[in-house]
Amino acid sequence: MTLPTDPAENLAALIRCASVTPAEGGALTALETMLKPLGFLVDRPVFSEGGTPDIENLYARRSGNGPHLMFAGHTDVVPVGDEAAWTHPPFGAEIANGEMYGRGAVDMKGGIACFIAAVARHVENNGGPKGSVSLLITGDEEGPAINGTVKLLEWAASRGEKWDASIVGEPTNPDALGDMIKIGRRGSMSGAVTVNGRQGHVAYPQLADNPVRGLMGLVDALLHPVFDKGTRDFQPTNLEVTSIDVGNPATNVIPAKATATFNIRFNDTWTAETVQAEIHNRLDQAARRKKYRQGKKTPVDYDLVWRDRPSHVFLTRDDRLIETLRGSIKSAVGKEPTLSTSGGTSDARFIKDYCPVVEFGLVGKTMHMVDERVAIADLETLTQIYQRFIEDWFGQG
Ligand SMILES: [Zn+2]
Repeated sequence: MTLPTDPAENLAALIRCASVTPAEGGALTALETMLKPLGFLVDRPVFSEGGTPDIENLYARRSGNGPHLMFAGHTDVVPVGDEAAWTHPPFGAEIANGEMYGRGAVDMKGGIACFIAAVARHVENNGGPKGSVSLLITGDEEGPAINGTVKLLEWAASRGEKWDASIVGEPTNPDALGDMIKIGRRGSMSGAVTVNGRQGHVAYPQLADNPVRGLMGLVDALLHPVFDKGTRDFQPTNLEVTSIDVGNPATNVIPAKATATFNIRFNDTWTAETVQAEIHNRLDQAARRKKYRQGKKTPVDYDLVWRDRPSHVFLTRDDRLIETLRGSIKSAVGKEPTLSTSGGTSDARFIKDYCPVVEFGLVGKTMHMVDERVAIADLETLTQIYQRFIEDWFGQG
């Protein structure tokens, strides 16, 4: 039997499955076909929740006598966008000038294809790692992420699964393979602040209460002063105002309401709770400033609503995991990767509640774009990095 040792072949099989969230598109079946000959037991639980599409996920485990490494990722992809703008068809896996084209090539079917090839080579050369290896693959990362990684982790943990370390194969490298390992992520929270005023004629402001004045003050308080200057491992906390809405078409009417929405990315100076307290405090102080009240005695009347659940900030401190991966990268590409906590959130924020987690995958330059593509040479190098990591982490070089 031929084992799936060629990452480009693995990736081509995955790209040819049109698995745009929430469709499985055959991608998990393709994975199962690769994993079974390697000795993995494969489960494909489907999770549901009212108001969201059902999602099929995959958990595969190859059991051994030793520590347990989990590789996590997703086979779902974002829509192709303007299909006519693609140089090669988005589900064709065509190769041109040493690059394979297709939606998901780097985000992140490519990472999965390389990890499977790495395990296959290890099985072929050494008979497989002495510990356990599992793949935790969701079909709901690019969508609402409700029926994906969170439930899959709970499902696996309830069956007694325990992991010692995890690698997420998202594209972490900005420019070249080996640039960057992600060892944590900032937290994220969104909110909306609405100021309630009283509608009236612009010529008689004393009879009305203009909420736009109050909102200007509250927004200013959200932005200044800066929250912090950054920490050893994280960039400074940053708040962005994402929208200001009054919806008033008239030029002679003072509106009744004004709303601003914002998102804050916070570092390990804070927790979700202390960020919320800080923002409440800033708004309360600004609401009492006379400057925004046009002689009125009462403070600015506002409501603050937090949207969704916060993503918590985290930092992985498992030296063996980080140093082993760093060493594998250095031996393959000859340079030291940066350890970073930059960028948006990822499913690592859920995995960190179960075991230490780092993220390392392909080069992210073309992710979510028309003509998403990956260098065939990068697929080979990432496979070698993962293979070396497996050998060193399990101590079986
Ligand atoms: Zn991704």
